[in-house]
Amino acid sequence: MYDIVVVGAGTAGLSAAIYAKRAGKNVLVLEGESYGGQIINTPDIENYPGIAHISGFDFATGLYNQATALGAEVKFEAVREIKAEGKEKKVITDSGEYDTKTIILATGAKNRKLGVDGEKELTGHGVSYCATCDGMFYKGKDVAVVGGGNTALEDASFLAGYCNKVYIIHRRDEFRGDIKEVERLKVNKNVEFVMNAVVTELKSEDNKLSAITVHDKVTNGDREIAVAGLFVAVGQVPDNNRFSAFVDLDEKGYIVSDETLTTRTPGVFTAGDCRTKKVRQLVTAASDGAAAALAAFDYINANW
Ligand code: NAP
Repeated sequence: MYDIVVVGAGTAGLSAAIYAKRAGKNVLVLEGESYGGQIINTPDIENYPGIAHISGFDFATGLYNQATALGAEVKFEAVREIKAEGKEKKVITDSGEYDTKTIILATGAKNRKLGVDGEKELTGHGVSYCATCDGMFYKGKDVAVVGGGNTALEDASFLAGYCNKVYIIHRRDEFRGDIKEVERLKVNKNVEFVMNAVVTELKSEDNKLSAITVHDKVTNGDREIAVAGLFVAVGQVPDNNRFSAFVDLDEKGYIVSDETLTTRTPGVFTAGDCRTKKVRQLVTAASDGAAAALAAFDYINANW
């Protein structure tokens, strides 16, 4: 039996594993995709205290290596459900079952879809959710980024480096992301800001994206923009329904918890972007992981 099973190998989950191992507990981390979570695709992190610049890949790999060097076990299996009625809990994946004293749910969040017709069919054929993964396919071409948060701003800066032209399309007249990122983007001569605008149509030729229609909310006019790529960066949504028998979810689907990282089920904790919180940043994900591991440590010592 494990002391702690962590669901998710993003920043919160791996930070939890590091703290749990250092507290002397045996830990299994289960991850359905690759380690690192959302941060792995960020080209340059500049706001993690103590580290002026680091790529998301290097940061995530550092976390992974630190956790595994301390003895945390990591298995790449997708978690289907948990059973947490009694003191002994079970985590069921697509290929195994694991008994544990405690569970830390650190499932992060997934990319929100734009919700425009054809989005699904054109994903991988012009529509992408990851500029650092797919950007190079659009070298020298015209592309658009939709969204107004830090991800959209960073994606647009990244793409401006080698695409012919980058349109950044945002539904309001003000960005949600950091002013520093906006200022950085403004110096790029090949970036056009398309504000107060929403993408209403995707056009394709030979099953590849060829243009988008953008509706201007102020003038009420429509504009067609020829682009080979559309990078969707309109935020994230959680994916916690499979745990709802044991944890409360808020109206948006985030796991209800406060700074104690506890859920309604004793022995089930949560950490990172998957929980109800105001600030979703790398530093708060790492902080949640530490706090959840120490809460699990206290729980085990009090109950086993
Ligand atoms: P976000 O901050 O939630 O921003 C999502 C953006 O998409 C918002 O501007 C939102 O518009 C827009 N949007 C949402 N739904 C839309 C729709 N259906 N159609 C058109 N636009 C839509 O998401 P994010 O940029 O992915 O960032 C997530 C978190 O990670 C944030 O806390 C962010 O600061 C953080 N982050 C940090 C860094 C970094 O520090 N280096 C890098 C990336 C992300 P409104 O503004 O009108 O709501």
